[in-house]
Amino acid sequence: MYSQDSISGHRRGRPEPTAEMLSGLACLICGTDYRNAPDPEAVVVSHRDGKQLLACHGTCARMACGSVNGLDEAPLPLTERVRGHRPGGS
Ligand SMILES: [Zn+2]
Repeated sequence: MYSQDSISGHRRGRPEPTAEMLSGLACLICGTDYRNAPDPEAVVVSHRDGKQLLACHGTCARMACGSVNGLDEAPLPLTERVRGHRPGGS
């Protein structure tokens, strides 16, 4: 187990990634939930705690990492990301 103080401590001013974003289930930039998106085209833009952080292909990816195509890396299947997801809180 490791500390998740950065997730539970919600502060004003600087938006923090949600648990969904940290699990690669939502766009890091616009917050689109890929579980609800019909045909999501997500690309890997960063990593955190050994997990992939995803953003929408295009504008979101460019904002996140400077490239519309994200990193040259294939995202895990959605089912894998859902399985690794731990809802935030305590
Ligand atoms: Zn997005």
